[in-house]
Amino acid sequence: MSISVVTGANWGDEGKGRMVDYLARNAAFVVRYQGGNNAGHTVVNEYGEFKLHLLPSGVFYPGVTNILGPGMVIDLEGLVKELDDLAGNNIRPNVRISDRATICFPFHRLEDGLEEDRLGKNAYGSTRRGIAPAYGDRTMKKAIQIGELLYPDRLRQRVRQIGDWKRQRLQSFYGSENLFSVDDMIAWAEQYGARIRDLIADTSELLEDGAEKGQHILFEAQLGTLRDLNFGIYPFTTSSCTLAGYAPIGGGLFTHKIDRVIAVVKAFSTCVGEGPFVTLMEQAEADELRESAKEYGAATGRPRTIGHFDAVATRYGVWAQGATDVALTKLDSLSGRKTLKICTHYTWRGKKYERFPLNAILEEAQPVYIEMPGWDEDITGVREFDKLPQPAQAYVIAVEQNIQCPIRFVSVGPERDALILR
Ligand code: GDP
Ligand code: MG
Repeated sequence: MSISVVTGANWGDEGKGRMVDYLARNAAFVVRYQGGNNAGHTVVNEYGEFKLHLLPSGVFYPGVTNILGPGMVIDLEGLVKELDDLAGNNIRPNVRISDRATICFPFHRLEDGLEEDRLGKNAYGSTRRGIAPAYGDRTMKKAIQIGELLYPDRLRQRVRQIGDWKRQRLQSFYGSENLFSVDDMIAWAEQYGARIRDLIADTSELLEDGAEKGQHILFEAQLGTLRDLNFGIYPFTTSSCTLAGYAPIGGGLFTHKIDRVIAVVKAFSTCVGEGPFVTLMEQAEADELRESAKEYGAATGRPRTIGHFDAVATRYGVWAQGATDVALTKLDSLSGRKTLKICTHYTWRGKKYERFPLNAILEEAQPVYIEMPGWDEDITGVREFDKLPQPAQAYVIAVEQNIQCPIRFVSVGPERDALILR
């Protein structure tokens, strides 16, 4: 048996969904342990191409129980839509939702948008899906747990209490009247709650039972190290812990330890949202790679910022995940480039930085690169490492040396089996 975590070592969008869809073939459980529907995990397999936001990427295997863990914030409407979309493709996954997860309400979305608008040019680059307000309320003990949907009288009373509190705060701070009606929020929770109530469970009990029987459990993170609330580029982070170390809490598995952490790393650097990003590519080159590699946000469609491979950020990203293995994705997207750059360290005011520093330094840090020859061949059909063009092998090895973790998977396409095992 093994308990594994698939997590991002960068800014997100490394291809976690793609790796989970590959690795879940032997799993009994796939568990999302943090985040909400600000995630966009792309899966391309025999059923088509899907963007998953709340559902774990194990949904394409009938034998997998997909758990939305207690560490998540869940927009009920978003979840119902996602399940309906899959059903429209004849996919009816086995899903269980932790009774301890937090409900993300429409007033959280509203608050997220109001605050981003207020911040103007200093905005966080939020997806405006209500994630930060929902986690904020949870921490302030003003949230409603998914399991409360099972107790209608109590639910109405609690949504009224919290809704009144929220309405007063938003109205007095943002200065608008009638931002939302509490009755509408109650009706919303009842309407969408009714659709998912049969999926609510004490998911820790399910997981503990599975682990006891030696079943394979896969935890799936959202975003990546650099967006982690504690260890990322705060405040341009997300509002939850994206690290593998949080999986037992956000997933709710306490008595078995994690055997393997697979950190997903993209073969070049990208980010969506705000915050410092040191290895920015020159505009024309970035535009070209964005188009050829289809680098647009899976949740929002926003164009991703494109950079050369940042080994300083990724080394830190892999380390903070406690990674045992790395999956390097999108190597195929680098075909056809004359040269490739790897940023090995930064400089700031004459000093060398090999370790990823705080924003105060990052915002002015200069990248120092090594340059390597590129390759022209289309490598999407390659399935053995030593069949890759020599410069591609050399690039992977240089990345590996710079991030100090074995690269055991090299992905050469978005499809499930477009993968080289090392
Ligand atoms: P996630 O959020 O980490 O799951 O990643 P996203 O799905 O947001 O972004 C990764 C994108 O890269 C998706 O469009 C994937 O289909 C695609 N992708 C993943 N691995 C590869 C690969 O090896 N090659 C190519 N060309 N695309 C890939
Ligand atoms: Mg994504």
